[in-house]
Amino acid sequence: MSNVLKEAEKCLQCRNPRCRKGCPINTNIPEMIRLLKENETMTAAQMLFENNPLSIICSLVCDHGAQCEGHCVKGIKGDPVAISDIEHFISDACFERIHHDLPEWNGKRAAVIGAGPAGITIAVLLREKGYKVTIFEVREKIGGIMRYGIPDYRLPRTILDRYAEKLKALDIQIRPNMAIGGAISVQDLLDDGYSSVFIGTGAWRPKRLNIPGETYGNVQYAVNYLNDPDVYDLGRRVAVIGAGNAAMDAARTAVRKGSDQVTVYVRRDKVAASREEQEYAILEGVNFEYMKSPVRITDEGVILADTQFNEEGKLVVIEGTEHLVPCDTVMVAISQVPQHRLVTRDPSLKLNERGNLEVHENGQTTMPGVFASGDVVTGAKTVVHAVAESKLIAQQMDRYMQSL
Ligand code: SF4
Repeated sequence: MSNVLKEAEKCLQCRNPRCRKGCPINTNIPEMIRLLKENETMTAAQMLFENNPLSIICSLVCDHGAQCEGHCVKGIKGDPVAISDIEHFISDACFERIHHDLPEWNGKRAAVIGAGPAGITIAVLLREKGYKVTIFEVREKIGGIMRYGIPDYRLPRTILDRYAEKLKALDIQIRPNMAIGGAISVQDLLDDGYSSVFIGTGAWRPKRLNIPGETYGNVQYAVNYLNDPDVYDLGRRVAVIGAGNAAMDAARTAVRKGSDQVTVYVRRDKVAASREEQEYAILEGVNFEYMKSPVRITDEGVILADTQFNEEGKLVVIEGTEHLVPCDTVMVAISQVPQHRLVTRDPSLKLNERGNLEVHENGQTTMPGVFASGDVVTGAKTVVHAVAESKLIAQQMDRYMQSL
C-alpha cells in the first residue's frame, strides 16, 4: 500500500475534527481523506483549491506540527496522520486538471499589486467572480516571498511556474517588472477605471538591529540574502542573529552553500521558528546558542552579551558579559517591515505605528476602494495566514465593487 493511502487509513474521521480546528484556513481534512480513500481524488483537489488556492504550497511550507498535524487526535498517543503529505499528493497530482467555472466579464476591473501569496489569492478569487484582473508585479516572475524568500529546497520554483501558467489559464493579466508607486501611482489605477485596487506588496525592508557597525561590509540581511544567495560570499563562519523561520532559511542555505560554521544566536531561551525548521537546521549542521544579544559589530565579528530574565520577566542584558564572536559574516534575520514606496507616492495611504499599512476592519486602507492584506498589513507572517486573510478581503472588495 502506498504511504499516502496508509496514512489515510489511519484517520478516524472524527466527528469533531481537531485537525481542522488547527488549520488556519479551516481545510476540511477528514473530507479530503474520505474522498481520497474512495478514489475521488479530483473531487478532493477541487475542494482543496476552492478553499485554499495555494493548497499545494501550504502542504509544503506550513508549520504542520503546530497546525493540522499538531492537533490530530492520533498524535496524542502516537504519530498523527501525515495530513500534509496527503494534501500535497492530491493537490500536486490534480493541479492542472482543476476545473474553473469562469463567468463572463462583469464589466469591472480590479488591480492587484504584488504577486505573492495574498495577491495570487485575491486575483484568483476575483477572477472567479467575473472581474477582469491585472496583477502588477515589481519583479520578473510571480511568487513574491515564496519565490524570492523561501529557499528552493523547501518550495521548488517549478510549483510557482505552474501557478504562472494557472494565472494565464484563468485569463489574469500580469505586468512584470512594474513598480506601482514609481511611474504609476495607485490613484492612476483608480483614475484609469479600476473599480478597486488590492495591495499585497509584502514586507521586504529588513528590520535593523540598531547597533553600531550594522553598515559594515561583513553584515548581510537575511531577506536580501535569500533573494539570491549565489551572489553572496559569506565565508566559512556565519553568525545568524534572529530566531524565526527566515533565520533558519538563511542558516540552512548558508550551510548548503559551503559555510561550515554557522551559528544562530537567540536572545531568548527558545527559537520563534517552527520545531521542524529548527530540527532540519540542526540536522544540517547549524549550531544554536541561546540567551545572547548583539551589542556591536566589528570587522572581526559580532560582540554579544548574555541575557537573562529579570524579576518582572523582562529580558535584559547582563552587564560585563560582552564578548567577541569572530565570524566572516553577521547575518541579520530579525523580521521585515513593508517598503514605503506606495505610501510616499500616494500620501492618502497611511502606515500604522509599527510601519505596516493601516487598514480598517474590512481590509480597506485609508484610501477609498483600496484594500490590503498579507505581510504589508501584518508584518512578516506565513503563507497560510496571508491566504486566509485575503479570502475575507476578496469578499469585501467584491461587496465594494458591486456597490459602485
Ligand atoms: Fe483524521 Fe486526525 Fe483529523 Fe481525526 S484529527 S479527522 S484522525 S486527521
